[in-house]
Amino acid sequence: MFSKILIPTDGSKTARKAAQAGIELAQKVGATVIALSVADTRLHISQAVPAVAASGRLKEPIEDYLKEAAGAYVEALRKECDKLSVKVRPVIARGHPVEEIIKEAKRLKADLIVIGSHGRSALSAAVLGSVTYGVIHSDTKIPVLVIRK
Ligand code: ATP
Ligand code: MN
Repeated sequence: MFSKILIPTDGSKTARKAAQAGIELAQKVGATVIALSVADTRLHISQAVPAVAASGRLKEPIEDYLKEAAGAYVEALRKECDKLSVKVRPVIARGHPVEEIIKEAKRLKADLIVIGSHGRSALSAAVLGSVTYGVIHSDTKIPVLVIRK
């Protein structure tokens, strides 16, 4: 039934828990994992310090840092897949996490998304993180498996 499982990660504890479930599922059903992390360019600087962002002086190093972090999160997933001999395709994107997750899911023809209920935010009292909420409510028929924290 499932042959390409997309696992988006922000490196958080819940994302790692979701990844473990997704990878084990992939192993059982013989699916390939798409490991995706999005460097979230909405973040911080442009809202907090518009003038600095406009000058471009901090934007690039911050984006570089976010991409590096995304690379490390994806690499960690790749290692977990290797341990279980699960085929994995690492993907790094930049932009809005919800938009990029849906875009990549469609582009790579994922047939299941396994995602954490929460991520890195301190606002963990919310029932569901906004990325997961957005993915569930997006305009696609791809099923979503939400792993709770
Ligand atoms: P919020 O960001 O809404 O303040 P949160 O950080 O607790 O709250 P989400 O960001 O929705 O919750 O995270 C839920 C799940 O979405 C994570 O476990 C992870 O699987 C996925 N996710 C979140 N951000 C990203 C990202 N930048 N790239 C890839 N996956 C992500
Ligand atoms: Mn988040």
